[in-house]
Amino acid sequence: MNTFQESGLRPDIVKAVAELGFEKPTPIQEKTIPFILSSDRDLVALAQTGTGKTAAFGLPMIHNIDELSKTVQGLVLCPTRELCMQITNDLDYFSKYLSGLFVVPVYGGTSIDKQIKALGRGGQIVVGTPGRVLDLIKRKKLKLEAIKYLVLDEADEMLNMGFKEDLDAILSKTPEGRRSMLFSATMPKEIASMAKRYMHNSEEISVGKKNSGAENVQHHYYVVQASNRYLALKRIVDYSPSIYGIVFCRTRRETQEVAEKLMQDGYNADALHGDLSQAQRDYVMSRFRSKHLQLLVATDVAARGLDVNDLTHIINYNLPDELEAYIHRSGRTGRAGKHGISITIVHGRETNKIAQLERKVGKPFEHKLVPNGQEVCEKQLFSLIDKVEWVEVDESTIEGYLDVIYKKLAWLPREELIKRFVSVEFNRFLAYYKDAADLNISAKKVREKKNSRASNMNFTRFHINLGSRNKVSVIDLISLINKHTGNQSIEIGKIEILNNFSFFEIDKSHEEQIIHAFRNVTRDGLKIKVEISKSKGKPEGEERFSGSRRYDKPGGSKGRSAWKGKRDGKPDWKKSKSKGKRKFRN
Ligand code: AMP
Repeated sequence: MNTFQESGLRPDIVKAVAELGFEKPTPIQEKTIPFILSSDRDLVALAQTGTGKTAAFGLPMIHNIDELSKTVQGLVLCPTRELCMQITNDLDYFSKYLSGLFVVPVYGGTSIDKQIKALGRGGQIVVGTPGRVLDLIKRKKLKLEAIKYLVLDEADEMLNMGFKEDLDAILSKTPEGRRSMLFSATMPKEIASMAKRYMHNSEEISVGKKNSGAENVQHHYYVVQASNRYLALKRIVDYSPSIYGIVFCRTRRETQEVAEKLMQDGYNADALHGDLSQAQRDYVMSRFRSKHLQLLVATDVAARGLDVNDLTHIINYNLPDELEAYIHRSGRTGRAGKHGISITIVHGRETNKIAQLERKVGKPFEHKLVPNGQEVCEKQLFSLIDKVEWVEVDESTIEGYLDVIYKKLAWLPREELIKRFVSVEFNRFLAYYKDAADLNISAKKVREKKNSRASNMNFTRFHINLGSRNKVSVIDLISLINKHTGNQSIEIGKIEILNNFSFFEIDKSHEEQIIHAFRNVTRDGLKIKVEISKSKGKPEGEERFSGSRRYDKPGGSKGRSAWKGKRDGKPDWKKSKSKGKRKFRN
């Protein structure tokens, strides 16, 4: 399916979609729409926020709703009020030309009576948060006997928010023959077991890699003293003058404090958290959406329903307790084909979390140094010059003042004039950053810490009969290990992908688990063999270049790659270079 026209959706739906400006289906829509229309199996879809999930389930669901019947035929469960409103809006748009179709949103924190009345008027699709849906079921105001479609949107988030029991109770009230669709950005064990419990013969569709961060997102981290976290945040923000992003904090209190400090320090920032009234939250969100606010300081929960496509940065002021939430946070940038940066500020003792995140995301994180005062000032200066160059001049207003201004400044030569104009803005930065301290925990210290961690870790080296010839990448190998052990927190050391086979290091205490996990695994028809590398005592160079093995040239898709599986994340080509005399096959 390349276009909505050829999707098989009703013409009235296709027309509404065209009016929304959707030119072609997103990857998740390309996969789910034909599947939902042509089959009656359940669906487990792995997709990040911002991938077009709502239309992916919403369009085919609307297609199959009988709008002549007033009974509830579709139930969409989602974690927050904001998401509930967003989904309802989207479904309203999609069904714009189906005059008999009504979507009723039901969510907590607001009068239930109005929602009961709305349900009484009859809606074929109900979108709701689990608590309120259950309440309405108990009051016998929401009847689910005729449900044909059940959608669990952001299922991982609903579980994180403690809705498991509510979901179980709701699902037990839905008819056996309903069709279930579960959408989740990540696939923790709890979601897998939920899918197993409630889905029958389900198809798994995923865009991007399981548990992976969005492709377009770069992950950076800064290591500072815990007490310098706020100063580091300011430097990072000052170093990115056109930043438009969310600063994630761990608690409501921290969120409020950071936002207040930023505001006092002259930043265009505000807070979004659960202690605010709904009206306050709506106000902050609408300012942020319309870009009147440059920085939104938020808790995970409060930011869930925010649908903004062009965030340049996500800043993890503090990492979430559940590292899984990092995927949701970072997935809020790099959306709709744009590029984004996810920044994490950590203190020395937290650097081990970065390695865990790299594994979760399946990408190396780049260690960045907090810019020094001079670097920030330079960046600001050139941003200011850019602004001067491109500012739109309101000729008609300024015209009336120009004669007086020219006269007053006539004595100043051109160069002097430029200097003074720039200084008006720039002096503030120069003064602030004069004598600014280095905030980085010295790079040497970070390296030492990393090395000591690596040498403390007792690894076993495994041999696996998959190599670049089998189109296996470092990330594939990590995913395979995660998948078959079912344990994402096993420490992985160095990974080397060679042509016909590969090596990977695993925390020694998990030796048996690895052997067991790969006992009966096949990939593309090939039985995977994993065994402890016999030459584990030998220096790597000896093993790699012994015998008559031939190796592909480093680099390029066919090249072999070695990845430390650690924070620097850079392929380690040194060894192959040192053996430069060897011939590489192209
Ligand atoms: P969602 O993942 O459903 O929250 O969608 C993310 C954003 O992508 C929303 O602003 C949608 O309106 C937009 N969107 C969804 N599908 C398409 C499409 N096929 N073409 C362009 N934009 C889309």
